[in-house]
Amino acid sequence: MTMDSYNQQHHFAVFGDIHGRIALMYTLAYLWENESGIKLSGLLQVGDMGAFPNPFKLDNATQKYAQIDPDELGFHKFCTQTDEGEFYLARQNTPNTYFIRGNHEDFDYLGSFSMPETVDPWQRLHFIPDGQQITLFKHSKRITIGGFGGIPPSTEHRARGKKARKKYRKAHRHADRSFFSELKAKSAFNQSEKIDILMTHAGPQCPDLQCGSIYLTELAKRIRPKVHLFGHHHQVIGPCQGPGNSLLVGLEHLNFKRNGELKEGAWGILTLSGDSANFTSPKNLPFLKTVKRETYRSLLN
Ligand SMILES: [Zn+2]
Repeated sequence: MTMDSYNQQHHFAVFGDIHGRIALMYTLAYLWENESGIKLSGLLQVGDMGAFPNPFKLDNATQKYAQIDPDELGFHKFCTQTDEGEFYLARQNTPNTYFIRGNHEDFDYLGSFSMPETVDPWQRLHFIPDGQQITLFKHSKRITIGGFGGIPPSTEHRARGKKARKKYRKAHRHADRSFFSELKAKSAFNQSEKIDILMTHAGPQCPDLQCGSIYLTELAKRIRPKVHLFGHHHQVIGPCQGPGNSLLVGLEHLNFKRNGELKEGAWGILTLSGDSANFTSPKNLPFLKTVKRETYRSLLN
């Protein structure tokens, strides 16, 4: 093995909740590659991918938003053979996407995966179930990506009193499947090798995110990932020092503003180089001005 393979830089495009906007996510990734001349090692997506393979089986929120923007239903065009899937995922050197579950997905569907697996005919979209990991570059300096999706149980912040305790127990017993359990968070990655990049859907409780999850803070402190990425909260957090001394980044949802331009803070570039990690949020790149709700599909050729 040469020194080179140890010193190699890896660039990942990181995306917040995309809610079905796979075409938009790949458009941004390809435009960034063209502009920078750099090849991406992968796309990282922190849940609320909008994994609804059947557009007639949606949750209520997704049904509501899909009436305003059909892009919310985008996923189903990528999990079977379609022209759109072919256009975005069958290119030469298409970078892989690694994603976890959020709180708006088809949980029957994602629950059928017990191991990290691709969900598309082109084998580009890799789902990482809770507490599992994928290791990249097995022949050089490995990068391990761990996933822990879902949102914390609503009563995580346990209140005092008999009534509150009862409510807490009930919530923990009949957990909605968009939640993760305290037990799962405490046992995740116990047998694992070192996790370099931890993706969670919700964020950890920390000075910059008071409403974050205590269980996710404990998880990050225990496994000490190099990088911790999350979405869900509609807040841009960091890059800053997170629990467990990680580089912590919280992302906005990938969507357009009323004026048709992209919301800021929904994506960025993570660069890993040796033991250092760096995250930049592209703001002033010329191509960003061209990415609009009505026209983004015509930007790639
Ligand atoms: Zn969410």
